[in-house]
Amino acid sequence: MKICLFGGTFDPPHIGHLLIAQTIFESEHFDKLFFIPALNPPHKDSDAITPIEHRVNMLELVIKDNPHFEISDLEVKRGGVSYTIDTIQSLKKENGFGSDDLYFLLGSDTLKSFHKWKEPESILDECQVIVAVRPGFRPSDIPAWILSQIRFANLPRIEISATTIRERWRTDKTIRYMVTQPVWEYINKKNLYL
Ligand code: ATP
Repeated sequence: MKICLFGGTFDPPHIGHLLIAQTIFESEHFDKLFFIPALNPPHKDSDAITPIEHRVNMLELVIKDNPHFEISDLEVKRGGVSYTIDTIQSLKKENGFGSDDLYFLLGSDTLKSFHKWKEPESILDECQVIVAVRPGFRPSDIPAWILSQIRFANLPRIEISATTIRERWRTDKTIRYMVTQPVWEYINKKNLYL
């Protein structure tokens, strides 16, 4: 089994996430791609994040029709702060995944702070980190010991972030086509991001 993990806040999940997930799934011939919503992302202010049940519900709406995608509730169930290394290690232990078959997908913006993550060296040892380039990325911002152990994927570049989507919604601008229609309806019905 060749598995890809895709961790994030997903507040909300948007087409940037979906397009890179689907493209990498196909080009790397993965068997499964797991979206892993972070309960408490260490680098984000937890009061400013939408409650986990809404983020999970929205993820369920976006993966529903795609048999290759799944949600892992590991970080939700574990509780506390959501450290990626803990997630990787428990998934390997529980499922017997080897380091060569386990990939972790992340956007290049997160690389800037990657050295501050919990046990970054262990993350690089325990799985293959694969990076989607986002606008504004400069390799010179990233320490060489990280650059030498990651791989950049050839993916479409989409200049969309959840921050922009929340901000647009708050200021009454359209987010049509930035999220799927069911997610749009969910945000509207639940009055998120006001
Ligand atoms: P926010 O703006 O709230 O920080 P985000 O849009 O960056 O959110 P996250 O849920 O934090 O979304 O992202 C999960 C992962 O997906 C991260 O590794 C992030 O870098 C990556 N990602 C998000 N949007 C894109 C995009 N448009 N292109 C490539 N990678 C992306």
